[in-house]
Amino acid sequence: MQIPRLVLVGAGHAHLHVVRHLAAFTRRGVQVMLVDPGCFWYSGLATGMLAGQYPCEADWLDPAPLIEQAGGTFMRDRVDRLDLEAQCAHTAGGTCVPWDAISFNIGSEVATDAIHGAAEHAWPVKPIAGLCRLRYRLVDLFQQHPHPRITVVGGGPTACEIAAGIEQLAHAHGAAIQLRLCSSAARLIADWPARASSALTRELHSRSIRIENDCRIIRCHSDHVEAADGRQHESDLTILATGLRAPSLTGGLGLPADRAHGLHVNACLQSTAHPRIFGAGDCIRFNDRPLPKVGIYGVRAGPILRDNLLAVLRGLPLRPFRPQRRYLVILNLGRDRALAMRGRWWWLGRGPMWWKHWLDHRFMQRHRPHPRPRRRNWQ
Ligand SMILES: Cc1cc2nc3c(=O)[nH]c(=O)nc-3n(C[C@H](O)[C@H](O)[C@H](O)COP(=O)(O)OP(=O)(O)OC[C@H]3O[C@@H](n4cnc5c(N)ncnc54)[C@H](O)[C@@H]3O)c2cc1C
Repeated sequence: MQIPRLVLVGAGHAHLHVVRHLAAFTRRGVQVMLVDPGCFWYSGLATGMLAGQYPCEADWLDPAPLIEQAGGTFMRDRVDRLDLEAQCAHTAGGTCVPWDAISFNIGSEVATDAIHGAAEHAWPVKPIAGLCRLRYRLVDLFQQHPHPRITVVGGGPTACEIAAGIEQLAHAHGAAIQLRLCSSAARLIADWPARASSALTRELHSRSIRIENDCRIIRCHSDHVEAADGRQHESDLTILATGLRAPSLTGGLGLPADRAHGLHVNACLQSTAHPRIFGAGDCIRFNDRPLPKVGIYGVRAGPILRDNLLAVLRGLPLRPFRPQRRYLVILNLGRDRALAMRGRWWWLGRGPMWWKHWLDHRFMQRHRPHPRPRRRNWQ
């Protein structure tokens, strides 16, 4: 009898859960391989890392020892094509990885092609690893330039966190920056309660962050940005935080998918066109109801994905994922302050920052590989 092979593409949140519970597969003789070109970078700590609050090392973990300790294998490579007939995933490194079931948890990207010149002149907030490099780039800029002008393009939660993180970093380095947040909407985080949005605006203003509402940036240049209404703002460094979309790979798999949301999956996280292909996290369009691209949905999908991958390999029925409608968001606003939001409830102050710090470190702690037990030397 042939040994069933499961391939996990991308070390995202849901796959980390599968890897943590790999024994359910290995004890049934399933061979599991995880393919990822890099490491898992945790977005919960990302803006704290950018702000200098946490070292870069606190924000990532290497999935290789995690899966190897659990009895699976790891391939440091990028899947760039799928052969549906031969059931094989092709990697950028030229390997063909055979599978009996395959799952995608490959995250999301910033649409750099939506703004002219952004690909050349702006720094996207994804991948998260890039924010560690951005921190060093900012520190260089603070040293080279007496009054650097920095623009964050976007008006959502990520843009606000990024702006606050840059302000904290500049403050810690004694740099006098001119920081501008350009949002295309009439107010920050337009889908939040108006009072929470106003409190956030006041908080950012109090740090001398200039907020330009109704300012849709259409062009980025090396030294300035241009808005649709003709406004121009000088900018030595421009950061793009204009929202996330699925990676282009999801559109090239030969399966139903759309550019904005990603691979189309049904309620059981299974491709709408192939019973042995699954997906979770930011790279899917869930059951005709696109979910917000936030980590919590990847985390919550993890147990269902694990059960359904196992079920499909054993010919058992699948169970549906029931995503929650409301979720907690805590924005790290730097200087030990944060804004927590759930539904219409919100809280701005130091308390939410302690809460966020605790939640995020607990998440990373839970997923860090355990050090191998040292052999005792009896001599
Ligand atoms: C600055 C910032 C802050 C954020 N803060 C929060 C927050 O506080 N809370 C929150 O819930 N959300 C936050 N988000 C959103 C969050 O980043 C995403 O929702 C989350 O990372 C999605 O997780 P995922 O499990 O889908 O994939 P990810 O965790 O992004 O993992 C995807 C993995 O797939 C790998 N991969 C990609 N392509 C391939 C390929 N072709 N082959 C193999 N592997 C591949 C990558 O290397 C990566 O390891 C933030 C986003 C940003 C940009």
